[in-house]
Amino acid sequence: MTRIGLSLLPLISVHLALFAIPFIEFSWWYLLWVLVLTRFMGLGITVGFHRYFSHRSFKTPRLIQFCLAVAGCTALQKGPLWWAIHHRLHHRHSDEPGDPHSPVVDGFFYGHMGWLFARDLMHPDEKVVHDLVKYPELVWLDRFWMLPAFLLAGACFAVGDWGGLVYGYCLSVVLVFQITFAVNSIGHMFGPQRFETGEGSRNNPVLGYLAMGDGWHNNHHRAPTSARHGFAWYEFDMSYMFIRTMKLVGLAWDIKQPPPGLMAGKGKPDPDQIGAEPITAA
Ligand SMILES: [Zn+2]
Ligand SMILES: [Zn+2]
Repeated sequence: MTRIGLSLLPLISVHLALFAIPFIEFSWWYLLWVLVLTRFMGLGITVGFHRYFSHRSFKTPRLIQFCLAVAGCTALQKGPLWWAIHHRLHHRHSDEPGDPHSPVVDGFFYGHMGWLFARDLMHPDEKVVHDLVKYPELVWLDRFWMLPAFLLAGACFAVGDWGGLVYGYCLSVVLVFQITFAVNSIGHMFGPQRFETGEGSRNNPVLGYLAMGDGWHNNHHRAPTSARHGFAWYEFDMSYMFIRTMKLVGLAWDIKQPPPGLMAGKGKPDPDQIGAEPITAA
Protein backbone atom coordinates (compact mmCIF):
# COMPACT_ATOMS: atom_id res chain seq x y z
CA MET A 1 0.00 0.00 0.00
CA THR A 2 1.30 3.47 -0.84
CA ARG A 3 2.10 6.08 1.81
CA ILE A 4 -1.03 7.99 0.77
CA GLY A 5 -3.16 4.89 1.32
CA LEU A 6 -1.53 4.22 4.67
CA SER A 7 -2.07 7.76 5.92
CA LEU A 8 -5.74 7.56 4.94
CA LEU A 9 -6.29 4.07 6.34
CA PRO A 10 -7.63 5.27 9.74
CA LEU A 11 -10.05 7.63 8.03
CA ILE A 12 -11.29 4.93 5.65
CA SER A 13 -11.58 2.52 8.59
CA VAL A 14 -13.83 4.80 10.66
CA HIS A 15 -16.15 5.18 7.66
CA LEU A 16 -16.28 1.38 7.18
CA ALA A 17 -16.83 0.89 10.93
CA LEU A 18 -20.28 2.45 10.59
CA PHE A 19 -21.46 -0.78 8.93
CA ALA A 20 -21.21 -2.32 12.42
CA ILE A 21 -23.95 -0.02 13.79
CA PRO A 22 -26.87 -2.46 13.07
CA PHE A 23 -25.05 -5.13 15.11
CA ILE A 24 -24.65 -2.97 18.24
CA GLU A 25 -27.51 -2.57 20.69
CA PHE A 26 -28.66 1.06 20.60
CA SER A 27 -28.58 3.26 23.69
CA TRP A 28 -29.71 6.88 23.93
CA TRP A 29 -26.49 7.55 25.81
CA TYR A 30 -24.61 7.09 22.54
CA LEU A 31 -26.32 10.17 21.13
CA LEU A 32 -24.97 12.19 24.05
CA TRP A 33 -21.50 10.79 23.28
CA VAL A 34 -21.85 11.89 19.65
CA LEU A 35 -23.06 15.35 20.68
CA VAL A 36 -20.15 15.90 23.08
CA LEU A 37 -17.43 14.38 20.87
CA THR A 38 -18.51 16.14 17.67
CA ARG A 39 -18.38 19.46 19.59
CA PHE A 40 -14.90 18.60 20.92
CA MET A 41 -13.43 17.43 17.59
CA GLY A 42 -15.31 20.08 15.62
CA LEU A 43 -13.95 22.91 17.77
CA GLY A 44 -10.47 21.38 17.43
CA ILE A 45 -10.89 21.84 13.67
CA THR A 46 -12.77 25.17 13.47
CA VAL A 47 -11.12 27.03 16.35
CA GLY A 48 -7.78 25.17 16.30
CA PHE A 49 -6.77 24.05 12.81
CA HIS A 50 -8.78 26.68 10.93
CA ARG A 51 -9.08 29.98 12.78
CA TYR A 52 -5.95 29.68 14.93
CA PHE A 53 -3.31 27.71 12.98
CA SER A 54 -4.37 28.59 9.42
CA HIS A 55 -5.40 32.22 9.97
CA ARG A 56 -3.83 33.23 13.30
CA SER A 57 -7.05 35.06 14.09
CA PHE A 58 -6.31 35.28 17.83
CA LYS A 59 -3.46 34.71 20.26
CA THR A 60 -3.27 32.10 23.01
CA PRO A 61 -0.63 30.69 25.43
CA ARG A 62 1.76 28.09 23.99
CA LEU A 63 0.27 25.28 26.12
CA ILE A 64 -3.25 26.05 24.87
CA GLN A 65 -1.87 26.23 21.32
CA PHE A 66 -0.66 22.63 21.78
CA CYS A 67 -4.01 21.57 23.31
CA LEU A 68 -5.85 23.01 20.28
CA ALA A 69 -3.53 21.03 18.00
CA VAL A 70 -4.17 17.81 19.95
CA ALA A 71 -7.95 18.37 19.84
CA GLY A 72 -7.80 18.91 16.06
CA CYS A 73 -5.75 15.72 15.57
CA THR A 74 -8.47 13.60 17.22
CA ALA A 75 -10.68 14.31 14.17
CA LEU A 76 -8.32 12.33 11.87
CA GLN A 77 -7.82 15.21 9.43
CA LYS A 78 -4.02 14.87 9.73
CA GLY A 79 -1.81 17.32 11.63
CA PRO A 80 -2.01 21.08 12.25
CA LEU A 81 0.83 21.99 9.85
CA TRP A 82 -0.50 19.80 7.02
CA TRP A 83 -4.00 21.23 7.49
CA ALA A 84 -2.80 24.85 7.66
CA ILE A 85 -0.56 24.51 4.58
CA HIS A 86 -3.39 23.29 2.37
CA HIS A 87 -5.88 25.73 3.79
CA ARG A 88 -3.59 28.73 3.25
CA LEU A 89 -3.02 27.58 -0.33
CA HIS A 90 -6.81 27.35 -0.71
CA HIS A 91 -7.18 31.00 0.24
CA ARG A 92 -4.25 32.06 -1.90
CA HIS A 93 -5.57 30.34 -5.06
CA SER A 94 -9.32 30.00 -4.35
CA ASP A 95 -11.06 28.23 -7.24
CA GLU A 96 -8.04 28.67 -9.49
CA PRO A 97 -5.24 26.28 -10.46
CA GLY A 98 -3.17 25.80 -7.31
CA ASP A 99 -6.22 25.48 -5.03
CA PRO A 100 -5.81 22.00 -3.45
CA HIS A 101 -9.57 21.33 -3.31
CA SER A 102 -11.65 23.41 -5.68
CA PRO A 103 -14.99 21.86 -6.76
CA VAL A 104 -15.21 24.62 -9.38
CA VAL A 105 -11.89 23.68 -11.04
CA ASP A 106 -11.74 19.92 -10.44
CA GLY A 107 -15.35 18.83 -9.88
CA PHE A 108 -17.51 18.24 -6.81
CA PHE A 109 -16.15 14.89 -5.61
CA TYR A 110 -12.51 15.90 -6.05
CA GLY A 111 -13.17 19.13 -4.10
CA HIS A 112 -14.93 17.16 -1.34
CA MET A 113 -12.69 14.12 -0.74
CA GLY A 114 -10.82 13.13 -3.91
CA TRP A 115 -8.07 15.70 -3.31
CA LEU A 116 -6.93 13.78 -0.23
CA PHE A 117 -5.67 11.02 -2.55
CA ALA A 118 -3.58 13.39 -4.68
CA ARG A 119 0.09 12.42 -4.80
CA ASP A 120 1.53 15.94 -4.54
CA LEU A 121 -0.06 16.37 -1.11
CA MET A 122 2.54 14.02 0.38
CA HIS A 123 5.28 16.64 0.37
CA PRO A 124 3.66 19.97 1.25
CA ASP A 125 5.87 23.06 1.29
CA GLU A 126 6.58 23.88 4.95
CA LYS A 127 7.60 27.43 4.02
CA VAL A 128 3.88 28.14 3.86
CA VAL A 129 3.72 27.62 7.63
CA HIS A 130 7.09 29.18 8.53
CA ASP A 131 5.39 30.83 11.52
CA LEU A 132 4.34 27.42 12.91
CA VAL A 133 7.40 25.22 12.27
CA LYS A 134 9.38 27.18 14.86
CA TYR A 135 7.47 25.27 17.55
CA PRO A 136 9.11 21.82 17.87
CA GLU A 137 6.11 20.37 19.69
CA LEU A 138 3.87 21.22 16.71
CA VAL A 139 6.34 19.68 14.25
CA TRP A 140 6.43 16.54 16.44
CA LEU A 141 2.65 16.34 16.68
CA ASP A 142 2.30 16.88 12.95
CA ARG A 143 4.49 13.80 12.43
CA PHE A 144 2.60 11.66 14.97
CA TRP A 145 -0.84 13.11 14.24
CA MET A 146 -2.60 9.77 14.65
CA LEU A 147 -1.59 9.44 18.30
CA PRO A 148 -4.32 11.67 19.86
CA ALA A 149 -6.91 9.94 17.68
CA PHE A 150 -5.83 6.46 18.79
CA LEU A 151 -5.81 7.55 22.44
CA LEU A 152 -9.34 8.98 22.21
CA ALA A 153 -10.60 5.94 20.29
CA GLY A 154 -9.01 3.68 22.92
CA ALA A 155 -10.63 5.68 25.74
CA CYS A 156 -14.04 5.39 24.03
CA PHE A 157 -13.60 1.61 23.77
CA ALA A 158 -12.41 1.32 27.38
CA VAL A 159 -15.42 3.25 28.71
CA GLY A 160 -18.18 2.22 26.30
CA ASP A 161 -17.01 -1.03 24.70
CA TRP A 162 -17.90 -1.46 21.00
CA GLY A 163 -20.80 0.99 21.28
CA GLY A 164 -18.46 3.66 22.64
CA LEU A 165 -15.97 3.02 19.86
CA VAL A 166 -18.37 2.81 16.92
CA TYR A 167 -21.03 5.35 17.96
CA GLY A 168 -18.92 7.58 20.18
CA TYR A 169 -15.69 7.77 18.23
CA CYS A 170 -16.19 6.54 14.63
CA LEU A 171 -19.59 8.14 14.01
CA SER A 172 -18.36 11.45 15.49
CA VAL A 173 -15.22 11.44 13.31
CA VAL A 174 -17.26 10.73 10.16
CA LEU A 175 -19.78 13.50 10.93
CA VAL A 176 -17.06 16.09 11.63
CA PHE A 177 -15.08 14.97 8.58
CA GLN A 178 -18.04 15.13 6.18
CA ILE A 179 -19.20 18.52 7.50
CA THR A 180 -15.68 20.00 7.38
CA PHE A 181 -15.12 18.86 3.80
CA ALA A 182 -18.63 19.89 2.75
CA VAL A 183 -17.47 23.45 3.46
CA ASN A 184 -14.84 22.95 0.73
CA SER A 185 -17.30 21.42 -1.76
CA ILE A 186 -20.90 22.54 -1.06
CA GLY A 187 -19.60 25.76 0.50
CA HIS A 188 -18.04 26.72 -2.84
CA MET A 189 -21.03 25.82 -5.00
CA PHE A 190 -24.41 26.14 -3.29
CA GLY A 191 -25.83 29.10 -1.37
CA PRO A 192 -25.97 32.88 -1.53
CA GLN A 193 -22.89 35.10 -1.96
CA ARG A 194 -23.07 38.25 0.16
CA PHE A 195 -19.71 39.52 -1.11
CA GLU A 196 -18.25 39.44 -4.60
CA THR A 197 -15.04 37.75 -3.59
CA GLY A 198 -14.00 36.60 -7.06
CA GLU A 199 -14.35 32.86 -6.31
CA GLY A 200 -17.18 30.44 -5.53
CA SER A 201 -17.45 30.75 -1.72
CA ARG A 202 -21.02 30.77 -0.35
CA ASN A 203 -22.90 31.42 2.86
CA ASN A 204 -24.79 28.12 2.93
CA PRO A 205 -27.17 28.39 5.93
CA VAL A 206 -27.30 24.63 6.63
CA LEU A 207 -23.50 24.44 6.69
CA GLY A 208 -23.38 27.67 8.68
CA TYR A 209 -25.07 25.92 11.59
CA LEU A 210 -23.66 22.41 11.12
CA ALA A 211 -20.04 23.57 10.81
CA MET A 212 -20.29 25.67 13.98
CA GLY A 213 -19.85 28.95 12.09
CA ASP A 214 -17.33 27.86 9.45
CA GLY A 215 -20.14 27.45 6.90
CA TRP A 216 -20.53 31.24 6.61
CA HIS A 217 -17.81 30.70 4.09
CA ASN A 218 -18.35 33.69 1.81
CA ASN A 219 -18.07 35.96 4.87
CA HIS A 220 -14.86 34.13 5.74
CA HIS A 221 -13.35 34.55 2.28
CA ARG A 222 -14.14 38.26 2.46
CA ALA A 223 -12.34 38.64 5.80
CA PRO A 224 -10.12 35.53 6.20
CA THR A 225 -8.21 36.62 9.29
CA SER A 226 -11.34 37.54 11.25
CA ALA A 227 -12.02 35.23 14.20
CA ARG A 228 -15.72 35.94 13.63
CA HIS A 229 -17.37 34.27 10.62
CA GLY A 230 -21.04 34.98 11.38
CA PHE A 231 -21.54 38.67 10.57
CA ALA A 232 -25.34 39.03 10.89
CA TRP A 233 -27.25 38.35 14.13
CA TYR A 234 -28.85 35.23 12.62
CA GLU A 235 -25.52 33.77 11.48
CA PHE A 236 -24.89 31.61 14.53
CA ASP A 237 -21.15 31.13 15.07
CA MET A 238 -20.46 28.74 17.92
CA SER A 239 -16.71 28.73 17.24
CA TYR A 240 -16.53 32.49 17.70
CA MET A 241 -18.53 32.17 20.94
CA PHE A 242 -15.94 29.63 22.12
CA ILE A 243 -13.08 32.03 21.29
CA ARG A 244 -14.90 34.81 23.19
CA THR A 245 -15.26 32.46 26.16
CA MET A 246 -11.52 31.73 25.97
CA LYS A 247 -10.92 35.48 26.12
CA LEU A 248 -13.21 35.79 29.12
CA VAL A 249 -11.03 33.37 31.11
CA GLY A 250 -7.77 34.89 29.86
CA LEU A 251 -6.88 32.18 27.33
CA ALA A 252 -7.27 34.28 24.15
CA TRP A 253 -6.41 37.87 23.22
CA ASP A 254 -5.83 40.07 20.15
CA ILE A 255 -8.96 38.57 18.58
CA LYS A 256 -9.13 39.82 14.99
CA GLN A 257 -12.41 41.28 13.71
CA PRO A 258 -13.82 41.96 10.23
CA PRO A 259 -12.72 45.34 8.80
CA PRO A 260 -15.05 48.16 9.93
CA GLY A 261 -17.93 48.90 7.54
CA LEU A 262 -17.61 45.52 5.86
CA MET A 263 -21.33 44.71 5.89
CA ALA A 264 -22.10 47.89 3.94
CA GLY A 265 -19.43 47.36 1.31
CA LYS A 266 -18.90 44.81 -1.42
CA GLY A 267 -15.94 43.91 -3.59
CA LYS A 268 -12.88 41.74 -3.40
CA PRO A 269 -10.82 41.39 -0.23
CA ASP A 270 -7.67 43.37 0.29
CA PRO A 271 -4.79 41.12 -0.92
CA ASP A 272 -3.02 41.70 2.40
CA GLN A 273 -6.00 40.17 4.15
CA ILE A 274 -5.79 36.83 2.31
CA GLY A 275 -4.36 34.10 4.52
CA ALA A 276 -2.61 34.71 7.78
CA GLU A 277 0.95 35.34 6.68
CA PRO A 278 2.78 36.21 3.48
CA ILE A 279 3.11 32.59 2.40
CA THR A 280 6.18 33.06 0.23
CA ALA A 281 8.28 34.24 3.16
CA ALA A 282 11.31 32.08 4.01
ZN1 LIG B 1 -13.06 28.31 0.72
ZN1 LIG C 1 -10.04 29.77 5.98
